[in-house]
Amino acid sequence: MKFALAGNPNSGKTTLFNALTGSTAHVGNWPGVTIDKRSGVYKKHAEKPEIIDLPGIYSLSPYSPEEIVSRNFLVDERPDAIINIVDATNLERNLYLTTQLLELDIPVVVALNMIDVLEKNNDEIDAAKLEKALGIPVVKISALKNMNTSALVDAAVKSAKANRKGNCVLSQSPLGGVISSVTELFKKAGVASPLFHAVKIIENDELELAAHPDISQKADELKKNMDTGIFEGDFEGLIADARYKRIAAEFSSVLKKAQRGAGLSKSDKIDKILTHKIWGIPIFLVIMLGVFHITFSEDFLFLGIFFKEGSFENAIFGTDAINSPGIIIFNLLDAFTSWIGESVAGALPEGVWYSSLINDGLLGGVFAVLSFIPQIMVLFLFLSILEDSGYMARVAFIMDRAFRRFGLSGKAFMPLVMCFGCGVPGVMATRTLENEQERRRTIFLMPFFSCGAKLPIWAAFAGAFAFKYSSLNAEFVVFSMYVLGIAVAIAASFLLKKTIIKGETPPFIMELPAYHTPQIKNTLIHLWEKLKHYVIRAGTIIAGATVVIWALSNLSFSFRMVEDSGDSMLGLISRFFNWIFIPLGFGMGENGWKFVVATLTGLIAKEVVVATMGIFSGMDGDAALEADMSEGDSPLAVMLLSVGGVLGGLDIAIPAMFAFMAFNLLSVPCMAAVAAARGEFRNGKWLFKAIAFWVATAYIVALAVFWIGTLFVISVWLGILVLLVLFGGIFAAARFKLIGKIKALFKK
Ligand code: GDP
Ligand code: MG
Repeated sequence: MKFALAGNPNSGKTTLFNALTGSTAHVGNWPGVTIDKRSGVYKKHAEKPEIIDLPGIYSLSPYSPEEIVSRNFLVDERPDAIINIVDATNLERNLYLTTQLLELDIPVVVALNMIDVLEKNNDEIDAAKLEKALGIPVVKISALKNMNTSALVDAAVKSAKANRKGNCVLSQSPLGGVISSVTELFKKAGVASPLFHAVKIIENDELELAAHPDISQKADELKKNMDTGIFEGDFEGLIADARYKRIAAEFSSVLKKAQRGAGLSKSDKIDKILTHKIWGIPIFLVIMLGVFHITFSEDFLFLGIFFKEGSFENAIFGTDAINSPGIIIFNLLDAFTSWIGESVAGALPEGVWYSSLINDGLLGGVFAVLSFIPQIMVLFLFLSILEDSGYMARVAFIMDRAFRRFGLSGKAFMPLVMCFGCGVPGVMATRTLENEQERRRTIFLMPFFSCGAKLPIWAAFAGAFAFKYSSLNAEFVVFSMYVLGIAVAIAASFLLKKTIIKGETPPFIMELPAYHTPQIKNTLIHLWEKLKHYVIRAGTIIAGATVVIWALSNLSFSFRMVEDSGDSMLGLISRFFNWIFIPLGFGMGENGWKFVVATLTGLIAKEVVVATMGIFSGMDGDAALEADMSEGDSPLAVMLLSVGGVLGGLDIAIPAMFAFMAFNLLSVPCMAAVAAARGEFRNGKWLFKAIAFWVATAYIVALAVFWIGTLFVISVWLGILVLLVLFGGIFAAARFKLIGKIKALFKK
């Protein structure tokens, strides 16, 4: 038996799906479109029905890919029953979809969800009355509390065993006559669910008109003499209006709202603070900074001030402070992977090429990427919590209020928030934007929202900074990249709006869901899906890339092993490009070309940036290891900081490093994201423009970062110099009574 789960977005479909199928869920794509298709089995019923989670939709119209996917599934695959999940707290809007599902010749069961919220508010809903009005079973459930879900499946199984003919809530209305005549035409043509098709063709539904041109002609004749009143022949509007009127008259009266006091609901109270006009954005920034602190800080809650230097010295406690949870798991995993690395290195013969391949190439590269899993996990965990609780929807609202003048609307911000995870689904999600100009603009901004694969880069640098310059807190380094990305996105959006992608920002209307306590199980499932993706990438595309990079950085053009990686193919090629990056700082110096290589290889996948660094630090790290490192410092950190020698002891390395990070944040995203963007632009010209735009933005911003940073460093040093001269002068003046002597000189 096959049951389809259909309902509005945010009605609790995913929650119900997880409650029903547990961990048996299987995620795939709908053929031809990238929308998640999930199916699983409900094991607690003897029938073991398969449950298919359809994309969240408001109607069965052909306007969004989600709607088309759901509709095609229902019409073509004909599940044995539809479980229509209805958010009882938004009854009228949710029943709009229900009235359309009713028209199919498929058994439908309504799952009246969020009953726990209703009860908490002391609202009452009369399920029996609704059941009678709709003519199908209605089961009250709470997906979150897993309440009554087995009764729901029982009802669905029972309904699936009987046949059902579709019925239309409009059959008693003035439209009834036309509907039944057109239905007869479909019946004669032998089409399944004739009533559904009839109503759609009367609505002038594009898909239907194309599929049944002859019936459409006959329907037009029947419609010709109808009085459509204020709708002036707009049958789609007329039918939508009729549906809502029926819902208001017949169905929504089953909900009795309790008398509310004048007080605000809890959500409203929280929103008074979190979405405050002025404080909204600072609060968002503080929350993000807090999340980064928990993930990256080596001085948790700044407790370091209470500990004397050298109080602790192991993985859990840092050298002189307590590590944050993210760093603790990082250290533990790092100890484990180092142990594996050392064991493997010990077992391999020295001085043969494959030892170097395995050690420096595969282990150096892949482990460098894998070792950041703990931090990615912790960060994603918090991002998932923020999303599930409903806070991210507020952020879209706050951003819309502040930045829509700049062309960045809240609606565009939602797909961009997804880009914090991965740009590919983010780009896909721009399909929810109806305005073509806004869609293009949003895709242009996609790389600026730092994705999960870029996180290892920030984590590696943050670690390196923290070890060399203890004054630079790791979480601030990471935070600065996220903020830089958002700031550049706002500026770029404004620029694009004024130049190549003009067009107004359409209004943003969204309902803010009430705050929910995130459900641990849901959050963990989210997290696992993201991590799985990351680990699989490390094992496939990144492992493959490291082998190729290892080979290119160890072999000359005549395929001989080289002593100095600078003479390898990669070395020579990137020296050719090197000069381009010298103005940005990180191209300078004897290690500069390695950063150029890392940037270029990052086009495959952003994790490869760090993998490449791992390979280089594995190869050259040993000497540096003894010279420059105290115990416990990773070769990666040493490698990153070896650019430090570039401009003498002036600490120019810091601006150069930030320029490198800025460039990698803003420039062309990975291959997969570029491919997704090409698919969405549907036009090579726009892709070309986007790539040029990304490279130019990255270059200009990185240039500015490097030179502003450098001027700052230089001015600090100059300042110290001036102070020294000044104090020296005063001291000399006092010491040798110079002023008196000068005065005397003038008197003469
Ligand atoms: P979907 O978009 O339809 O997949 O909706 P989700 O399953 O993601 O649920 C949206 C939000 O509603 C989540 O924060 C859920 O935790 C919450 N939610 C879902 N079902 C219930 C329920 O029965 N009661 C309560 N209180 N919250 C629920
Ligand atoms: Mg969902």
